[in-house]
Amino acid sequence: MTRPRAEHVRLLIVGPQGSGKGTQGTRIAEAFGIPAISTGDVFRENIREATELGLQVKAIIEGGHLVPDELTSAVVRDRLSHDDAAGGYILDGFPRNLSQVADLDEFMRERDENVDAVIELSVPREESVARLALRAHEQGRADDTEEVIANRLAIYERETAPILDVYRERGVVDEIDGVGTPDEITDRIIAALEARGLSRRAAA
Ligand code: ADP
Repeated sequence: MTRPRAEHVRLLIVGPQGSGKGTQGTRIAEAFGIPAISTGDVFRENIREATELGLQVKAIIEGGHLVPDELTSAVVRDRLSHDDAAGGYILDGFPRNLSQVADLDEFMRERDENVDAVIELSVPREESVARLALRAHEQGRADDTEEVIANRLAIYERETAPILDVYRERGVVDEIDGVGTPDEITDRIIAALEARGLSRRAAA
């Protein structure tokens, strides 16, 4: 059975830990009929399955540090080469620093693609810390301890927030208020994307 072809839409979702970008990334992917590609999910899956990559990154992730760019970018390049990414995608958790922005620019140039929009999910720090503490309690993620959370948020401020300036200069950033119910936030994101002329796929 052939599904209606997805719009060729290429998105990034950026936000601090606990901003809900994983949840919203999945919802937007579904609405647009494109895959959500989360580097964090790829790494966690590899850790679970104890692959060579998983063994390489386990201690790094559990300590709340960033996986080296070379390794992360190689993972993304490989994932983008899968058939399902030919009609667009949303990247969650990549790029996470300026060097990864340069890598993504290179991959996309080779593919003759552009970033159509960058969704910036903004959430006050106290709110994301509270959500992470709750997630730690519910899911027991090894990188959700208080100390590791503080480290990840500091890395976000220092390394990830600056990538937004690059994309802001390109005029592709939509800042979305990340406080509200999940449905409200999804609606805000879709409205912002539609205002850019990026439309969802026809209902399947
Ligand atoms: P969060 O945004 O809550 O930190 P993620 O699932 O996005 O959760 O990432 C979990 C961990 O995976 C990060 O703390 C980091 O160690 C690693 N990681 C994910 N994406 C990247 C990336 N682009 N570059 C380096 N490390 C990454």
